[in-house]
This record gives sequence, C-alpha cells and structure tokens, in this order.
Amino acid sequence: MPTDKVPFQGMKAITKCSIHTENNTELLCVDHDQFICSLCLVRFHRNCQIIDDLFKDQLQTQHDNGEALQTLEESLNELQHKCENYLTHVASIEREIKHECRKFVREVKKCVYKINDSITSRYYTVLDKEGYDTSVEISRFENVLKCIYNNLALLTVTLSFGHPSEQTVIKKVVNEALIEAQ
Ligand SMILES: [Zn+2]
Ligand SMILES: [Zn+2]
Repeated sequence: MPTDKVPFQGMKAITKCSIHTENNTELLCVDHDQFICSLCLVRFHRNCQIIDDLFKDQLQTQHDNGEALQTLEESLNELQHKCENYLTHVASIEREIKHECRKFVREVKKCVYKINDSITSRYYTVLDKEGYDTSVEISRFENVLKCIYNNLALLTVTLSFGHPSEQTVIKKVVNEALIEAQ
C-alpha cells in the first residue's frame, strides 16, 4: 500500500462503475466510449458492437500500460513546468501592473483632486479591472496546476499499485484531462 492514501483512493474511485458502485469496471464499451461493469453490459449495452475486456491479455496490457503511463507522466511534467513558468511570468507582470497602477493613481490624484471626484473614481474602475483580469488568469493557471499535481499523483500510484485493468481506466481518464489542460 502507498504511504499517500489519497491518490490510491482516487484510483479506486475512478475505476468503479459509475452506476453500480459496488462493482469495478471490467469492460470498455467502445460504442459509448464508456467504462462499464458486467451488470451494465447486460442492462444497457446488449446491442453495442465493440466491447473490450479490460481483463484480457493482462501481461501484455500491463506492459503497454506501463509505457503509456510513463509517456503521460512526462507530458504532465512538461505541462507542469510550462504552467509554473507562466504563473511566475504573470505574477511578475501583476507586480509591475500594480506598481504602475499605484504610481498612476498617485499622479491622477494629484492632478484631479480639486476638479471632480467622479473622474478619479472612473480611473479607479479602469485600474481595478486591470488587476482583476490578472488575478483571474493566475487562478485559472493555479487550477490547471492543481489538476496536474492530482493527475501525476494518480499516475504514480497507478503505475506502482494499479491492476492492469485499473491502469487502462486511469490511462484514458488522465489522457483526457491532459488534453483538456492543454
Ligand atoms: Zn455498472
Ligand atoms: Zn454501449
């Protein structure tokens, strides 16, 4: 058992049938692009054309999955570095913008202090918006990073402790998450 239980429990949860949570997924319905259990097969997929057995050729599957999971791990690592670099970059821009804003606000205050309060507040609105956009960007990338960390932990635990059938499920799930993150 791994020392960090959370990704392991995550792997176990993901590889359960979403409808019959007492069952593990055993099959992939290619028609529906969906992992299913044997109950699902009988009830909902009887007329589907292509059903893959996740438990066939286990040695070969384990070998193929091992390579595929490692490739995924590398892609995630690469994306993680890109994200972290970008975040650092945005954070430094944000600091610059804030610095410029403060300077600008001081100038504006000096100039229009005596003329009209509404002009000052309009400038504040514009400046606030600049700051706001940067923080939205940062939190978006922080979320992507969090998703990458979670998927990396999931991959690591699946590589070491996952059954070949579980590896197949996780491989697909992480691959889809990776495509979405990019
Ligand atoms: Zn089911
Ligand atoms: Zn189906």
